[in-house]
Amino acid sequence: MDVVNPATGETVETYETDSSAEVEAKLDRATDAFETWRDRPLREREELLARAGEVLRENKHEYAETMTEEMGKPISQSIGEVEKCAWVCDHYAEHASAYLEPDGHPSPPGTRVKTVYDPLGPVLAVMPWNFPLWQVFRFAAPYLVAGNVGLLKHASNVPGSALAIEEVFREAGFPEGVFQTLLIPSSAVEDVLVDHRVRAATLTGSGPAGRAVASTAGDNLKKTVLELGGSDPFVVLDDADIEAAVETGTWARNLNGGQSCIAAKRFIVHTDVYDAFVDRFVSEVEALVVGDPTDEDTDVGPQARAGLMTELHEQVEASVEAGATVLTGGEPLDGDGAFYPPTVLADVPEGCPADTEETFGPVASVYEVDDEAAAIEKANDTEFGLGASVWTEDRHRGEAIARRIDAGCVYVNELVKSDPRVPFGGIKESGYGRELSEPGIKEFVNRKTVWVN
Ligand code: NDP
Repeated sequence: MDVVNPATGETVETYETDSSAEVEAKLDRATDAFETWRDRPLREREELLARAGEVLRENKHEYAETMTEEMGKPISQSIGEVEKCAWVCDHYAEHASAYLEPDGHPSPPGTRVKTVYDPLGPVLAVMPWNFPLWQVFRFAAPYLVAGNVGLLKHASNVPGSALAIEEVFREAGFPEGVFQTLLIPSSAVEDVLVDHRVRAATLTGSGPAGRAVASTAGDNLKKTVLELGGSDPFVVLDDADIEAAVETGTWARNLNGGQSCIAAKRFIVHTDVYDAFVDRFVSEVEALVVGDPTDEDTDVGPQARAGLMTELHEQVEASVEAGATVLTGGEPLDGDGAFYPPTVLADVPEGCPADTEETFGPVASVYEVDDEAAAIEKANDTEFGLGASVWTEDRHRGEAIARRIDAGCVYVNELVKSDPRVPFGGIKESGYGRELSEPGIKEFVNRKTVWVN
């Protein structure tokens, strides 16, 4: 696996993939580890997780630098990501016992009936490169503390981050085999997934990858959680605070170089405020600092891989060909790195790539709509259903609209974000299942009924 720094185009490191004998040994180790880890008191598992949070904080600069080098995330955002990983460790270290508390049930006199939450075993996690640490800690913190063991197949362009995560758990004192990284290509995932030692799988990534894993898991009757793409609407109503909407919308689209499933992608703006919003939005987007991701002042770094930037540009070109207007950006920047400028498209015709596909980069589509009903209709006019953001000064109106949007989460006067305290996940082509909070820790447990006479 070659790691190419997307800011320079240079190969900075090469990793050997695991041989099939090494994968076999890791699967054995995972099974052995599970037998003792599942019996470790929950309190002790929580303490180890809290320690993992400390290790992350102690080494945050080192881990952040690895992410920035491997996939181009601006360094200040990489540091923020490591801190967020520590937060999810803290959260489950503090709340796992309460989340996994057995539930009682009404039962006949003289009997005791309850549901307990037992772990399932080794869980395979197929993860993407866009948030190399966060995507993994979001699954690992709840699933490991619940007593499962983890096998990570990370994206092929971030092996250094994958090994750094393994190191965090090792340094925190987790027993050998509780969390392991498999350095394997995607073509080797199926063999691991069908293996009887692997009990369940979670995947974050594209639709095709999700379908492949879900179909293999389905054939083998293994549970999956899928967190796939999104084309989140950002709805600005006639009574919105335009300044706040512009400021948050700019970040909601361009954070992480726009490479986020929950980035705002379609800006749906009421005609009464359309000109005011678009003028300010374009100026704010143009003010973002694009460049060297190791510089603290950079807002937008390179796209994570040159090929992904080419695909993004093809989406823009096809949309312009279909009639979209470029208000700013729209052409890759000159130089060695995979730099794409923050771009705003208007007059986006129905059915073009910027309208129907996920644009996984800093490209915003803006739409003008006549009224609230048209805004909701446009927001729901997508095969995805991950998140949505609605802007209005009337909180009741915002909440009512939230109920009519087909998405896994709707944020009113806020950007869509994942937060350890609240469930996260999508519907439709955005996947199924929930991560984080109490539903997240209960995705990979055996909800076992125990009846005692
Ligand atoms: P992929 O979905 O291809 O990669 C995500 C993970 O899935 C990687 O670990 C990858 O491994 C693995 N994978 C890919 N194909 C399979 C398969 N058939 N079976 C098992 N595992 C597989 O994303 P890309 O990196 O190619 O990005 C393409 C697009 O995916 C983006 O433009 C974006 O639209 C979407 N995406 C969505 C993300 C999200 O957060 N929901 C995150 C990343 C991408 P390997 O790297 O070895 O191929």
